[in-house]
Amino acid sequence: MRNRRRAVFVCCDGLGRDWVRPETTPILHDLAREGLWCAEHRAVFPSVTRVSAASVTTGCLPARHGLHGNRMGLVEGGKIRVRDVGHPDFRGHMRRATGTTLLVPSLAERVADAGGFIAFSNVSPGAAYFLDPEHFGYVYHRAGSYAPGGACISGAKALGVSHDLAGDWAMTQRFCAEVLRDRQPAVAVLWLANPDLTLHGVPLGSREHREALGMAERCVREVVRTIEDLQGEGDEILLLIGSDHGQETIGGCIDLEAWLATHRLGALLQSGDVAVAGQGTAALLYASDLGRPSLLGVIEDMRQAPWAGTVLLDGELAAHGLATQGGIVAAVNMARLETLNPFGVTGQRWIVSEAGKSAALGSGQHGGWGPDETRPFLIVREPGAAPGVMHRPTGLIDIAPTILRFLGLESDGLDGSPIARPLRPAPSR
Ligand SMILES: [Zn+2]
Repeated sequence: MRNRRRAVFVCCDGLGRDWVRPETTPILHDLAREGLWCAEHRAVFPSVTRVSAASVTTGCLPARHGLHGNRMGLVEGGKIRVRDVGHPDFRGHMRRATGTTLLVPSLAERVADAGGFIAFSNVSPGAAYFLDPEHFGYVYHRAGSYAPGGACISGAKALGVSHDLAGDWAMTQRFCAEVLRDRQPAVAVLWLANPDLTLHGVPLGSREHREALGMAERCVREVVRTIEDLQGEGDEILLLIGSDHGQETIGGCIDLEAWLATHRLGALLQSGDVAVAGQGTAALLYASDLGRPSLLGVIEDMRQAPWAGTVLLDGELAAHGLATQGGIVAAVNMARLETLNPFGVTGQRWIVSEAGKSAALGSGQHGGWGPDETRPFLIVREPGAAPGVMHRPTGLIDIAPTILRFLGLESDGLDGSPIARPLRPAPSR
């Protein structure tokens, strides 16, 4: 590989923009002042990790890339079957149902013959593999690591790290030594599990949350130091440091399938003609042609329910970047109450229950379009660029075009666009 001009993206999963403050993340706060701080950076909907990974790698919204959620409905034999995208075998089910995985090329495909792609990820297998679902580059994950063409990497060369803070740190050290210093692909991605992983079991603002922020920062600092060393040796490296979404507090939990069953949709749920794909603080509602009129018939009741924030139908989904094909009929953003948690963090959300999982009331969650979960952060460090603040809205879909432009590759036709350097202020007269 060995590219002197290359790009690196570090994702601190679940680190909401409002946590980048001197007292909570001093390292990120300083880095923000040294680089380009994207002050209006946005998540995608659903604001979940697997969809975020697909949007980062394609530069497109879910309506274009085709991955609907962390869990999504597939039309199998005319019926809707909701499957978990996090499972390693999901791509097989998706290929059988739709003929493919992502509908547009990944960054890994775009740079396969232009310097290569290596990702190290410590989140769910699904989120890792959707960075490069068709194996154009290298993806390393504790559930299995793969080379171009899909060959399995085994033994010490695989990524045998733990799914916790220590695993993030071990992964980062190996990433810096092996990927950044030695192999030098055109595009390298480091996707940390934290602070998201920790927040799913503790309150926002708690000591554990702050410790997870500290570890994520420590990993970022290691990458920055490595890149500064390499730039001192003449390499030109574009570094993007960011997150995919923030988190909000779980205030209550609703079994949406049970609610639909009480509204006479039980038989249609049983037959796979109506289905619910929970996304934490949101849900996608699917129906076959047979189930669609009955599902539409309960939407007004749903809108009156205390746990429902906004319910979008059909054409309104496209405005949120969501596909309207593949059986999706509606999307629900769960309600929010402006109450404080014990650590002074505002906002409590209803979430959709998942079979077999108990809701950790008071802990963090995400998935919808609430104010905190949709505010990830992004810092762009481009060689030679002046520090500044980008006030134009940016999003996860702008990351791939920004990388492609830096590498001198085609970035037209994507939903996102390159994040440009801010203009230096005109001299005052
Ligand atoms: Zn995430």
